[in-house]
Amino acid sequence: MSELREGADRPVRMLGFWGTSADRTLPDPADLVDAGWDESEREWVAGYLNDGQVARSWMGASRCRLCACLNGTRDLTDGYYVWPEGLGHYVLDHGVRLPAEFLVHIEQRLQALDEVVRDSSWWRRNAART
Ligand SMILES: [Zn+2]
Repeated sequence: MSELREGADRPVRMLGFWGTSADRTLPDPADLVDAGWDESEREWVAGYLNDGQVARSWMGASRCRLCACLNGTRDLTDGYYVWPEGLGHYVLDHGVRLPAEFLVHIEQRLQALDEVVRDSSWWRRNAART
């Protein structure tokens, strides 16, 4: 909880949002396709993206810009980045490459989760206080 509160003061980076005819300042996923991107790394990145926490739900579904499949109705987040639910599809099925800095971020987040020190004292004190 305190970690999320700390994050409330800084902006969350948008990732994987695409330009529209009305706003061409955002990238086109077709320009980011890397057909040679290693499949196991794509699966690793897509898995991380698909495990994001729901940040917002939208009324309508998004369609993939590359194959037109229905591709999600929500935005997901890890508290540092926010991305459309379908970004994992772009990565896994189309090889849309994300910035190297984001891949380093994934490594660091997973490493930090792996090394976290667990403390049961709060749970022991509060479990019966309902
Ligand atoms: Zn697609």
